Amino acid sequence: MIRQCGLRATPQRRVVLQFLVRRRIHATAEEILEAVNRAVPRASRATVYNVVRDLVCAGLVRELSADGRASRYDARIERHHHFVCDRCGRLEDVEWFDVAPPVRRLKSLAGHTVREYELIMRGACAACSRAD
Ligand SMILES: [Zn+2]
Ligand SMILES: [Zn+2]
Repeated sequence: MIRQCGLRATPQRRVVLQFLVRRRIHATAEEILEAVNRAVPRASRATVYNVVRDLVCAGLVRELSADGRASRYDARIERHHHFVCDRCGRLEDVEWFDVAPPVRRLKSLAGHTVREYELIMRGACAACSRAD
């Protein structure tokens, strides 16, 4: 996957991508750093952050920002939406459904080129809802 995107498959890049793909989580940069340090003990913070940035640029990983919390990274490439729990902070995948914004009719988007869009739904996750 990494080579197909024109990047060299360095050990750090492989570890970061494997971590994100296998664990299917939306990890923060800190969590990625911890995981990489277990596998490649000498990787510095700056290296890991550069690796994550390269993978985002190559389109292998998506960067998600949720509410001013630290960015999270998602290696699930198929289109999907997200749900963020207000209470426990869980970030869950929601299967894709079409919500095409009427880009051409929106004044605030005049002259813009929209590359992609997604919904972030907020509320209480199933576990937090049950705890009520
Ligand atoms: Zn929750
Ligand atoms: Zn996701």
